[in-house]
Amino acid sequence: MKGISSVNFAGKKVLVRVDFNVPVDENKKITDDTRIQEAMPTIKKLMSDGASIILMAHFGRPKKGGFEPELSLKPVVDYLSELLNQKVAFTQSLDFNDIKELADNLKQGEVMMIENIRFYPEETKGDVELAKKLASLGDCYVNDAFGAAHREHSSTATIAQFFPNDKYFGLLMEHEIINLTKLMNAPTKPFTAIIGGSKISSKIDVIKNLLPLVDNLIIGGGMSYTFAKANGKNIGKSICEDDKIQVALDLQEEAKKQNVNLYLPVDILAGDAFSNDCNIKYCPEVNIPDELEGMDAGEKTRELFGKVILDSKTILWNGPVGVFEFENFAGGTNSIAKYIAEATDKGAFAAVGGGDSVSAIKKSGFADKISYISTGGGAMLEYLEGKTLPGIKAILD
Ligand code: ADP
Ligand code: MG
Repeated sequence: MKGISSVNFAGKKVLVRVDFNVPVDENKKITDDTRIQEAMPTIKKLMSDGASIILMAHFGRPKKGGFEPELSLKPVVDYLSELLNQKVAFTQSLDFNDIKELADNLKQGEVMMIENIRFYPEETKGDVELAKKLASLGDCYVNDAFGAAHREHSSTATIAQFFPNDKYFGLLMEHEIINLTKLMNAPTKPFTAIIGGSKISSKIDVIKNLLPLVDNLIIGGGMSYTFAKANGKNIGKSICEDDKIQVALDLQEEAKKQNVNLYLPVDILAGDAFSNDCNIKYCPEVNIPDELEGMDAGEKTRELFGKVILDSKTILWNGPVGVFEFENFAGGTNSIAKYIAEATDKGAFAAVGGGDSVSAIKKSGFADKISYISTGGGAMLEYLEGKTLPGIKAILD
């Protein structure tokens, strides 16, 4: 592991790629600063070493090629200045002469930020020239942007080649890699994966890659109806990907071959519309009337899944098992969270990842019981699919 903990960066100019792609409201006020907070340990460590820090980050999805006022990192810079209690140097200029001047004037312990890196259209192409210009600003490179680790961009991957002996994982990135490695390389058995969410299509590769590793696979949420339909059940108006019926059958077959116990919902809370205040009907079996759609796991399903979870020593959860955004259909997802918390109390190692899953676990109130909550939605999923993440590879190469 090429981490920063045992290195002293005193007097160095350190380029740090962070994930500051935070949500903002219409007044550009940051509504959730989690991503900024998570980069603080790395920034503070470098500051206390006496390094000068040059932050690189993207914000939103610029399309015009060049500066777009509404996607400027200025609000983030102001916020960070407050957090650090010192001014973060910044220019909205994209001209490298201006940026270099700022970088050259940085003193030890000072921080600057480059404007939204995706204002340069070359960034997302992984362009070498842009990477070289960025690299010319500093002496070392630290990647702490796990949320962007699955992107082969100039500032997340290409840049690393200019620092063959001075490239490192930031503390957040290191934490993610250690936990993902633990999960996928040496899981204590029994290992249970709970995979939910709306679409099977977005999780096929994850399931395929997990089958050789897990003892139990729990499938819940919207994607379970594609399995149910494949198994000849009535699913009413429930969400279903008809073109993935064969995939569902193949996955079931594969699970059997690999001796994985597969668990699907056995009872359902259905609704007559996709809304929180629709009329709710309990279906004691997966046999949903034509005019209704499956919205959440029923009580028997919760107990069935719970029993498996409580018997597990390693647990991976990605994907809510119901439409948890609607309070009336959050019960199934919350019960998963509760059972996982109980399992970790008994010594299990539990990992939760995925944008919606992380927001569900936070809402449930059990987040502090989870051994490891991944900060990277897409990046974690690609890791679980068995892919090599360019942001990780670039540091290791
Ligand atoms: P993650 O972001 O954690 O990877 P996904 O994006 O795959 O999770 O899935 C989350 C979405 O799945 C949520 O918006 C949730 O409402 C939806 N979902 C779960 N169960 C159902 C269901 N029965 N019908 C429709 N959507 C569902
Ligand atoms: Mg999602």
